[in-house]
Amino acid sequence: MADKISSTQMLATLEKLCDTFEKQKDYLSELDGAIGDGDHGVNLAKCFREVKKKLAEDRGDNIGSLFKNVGMVVLNSVGGAMGALYGTFFLKLSQESLSKSELNLSDLVVIMQTAEKGVLDLGKAKLGDKTLVDTLCPAVRSLEAAEKDGLSLPEALVNFEQAAKKGMESTTDMLAKMGRASRLGKRTIGHQDAGATSCYFILHAIASALNAG
Ligand code: ADP
Ligand code: MG
Repeated sequence: MADKISSTQMLATLEKLCDTFEKQKDYLSELDGAIGDGDHGVNLAKCFREVKKKLAEDRGDNIGSLFKNVGMVVLNSVGGAMGALYGTFFLKLSQESLSKSELNLSDLVVIMQTAEKGVLDLGKAKLGDKTLVDTLCPAVRSLEAAEKDGLSLPEALVNFEQAAKKGMESTTDMLAKMGRASRLGKRTIGHQDAGATSCYFILHAIASALNAG
């Protein structure tokens, strides 16, 4: 069983993520349309089209530079909060993976913790505020638990994906306290959060890295 994600696998899974955002464009915009302004899917699809072009130029031998490339494109091509939040997420993933050509479980824990901190520091959203943080934080906690319990990388990635999914789904019953949706108060209950959903797609891609490339 592979206990490391290679840079080739990370490149392949990030390329698939670009296609996922293209496919899920309408779904994500519908989710955002219910309690926001309906631009989430369109913005991300547009941005990840640029990411795909950038990745095509990448030799894929350095995981940190892959994440850095994605982060720079996201930061520059998605307007508003999401550009800054996801841009920061990917740039922070790159911080501790620069010059690494593969990632083991402890590396993954460290880079995900760094990215989580970056998003929390910037956005100031807390768990339960109905944002992408509700997907991200439980997923990172699950990785930490996997490392502590001595799970293999494939096992840890299965739990990571499931925790992210559960976190995404948990936003349906929440009342939005951040961003545009917060203006709608109780009307937001019963709708899954768009950002929590796009964050799930990102984490799903990372969780699937061993099967890519
Ligand atoms: P906008 O609200 O500018 O139209 P998007 O539609 O692209 O931006 O993104 C909306 C998503 O952003 C929400 O579904 C929520 O998950 C996320 N979000 C909003 N504010 C924050 C924040 N402060 N921290 C983390 N995520 C946030
Ligand atoms: Mg929006």
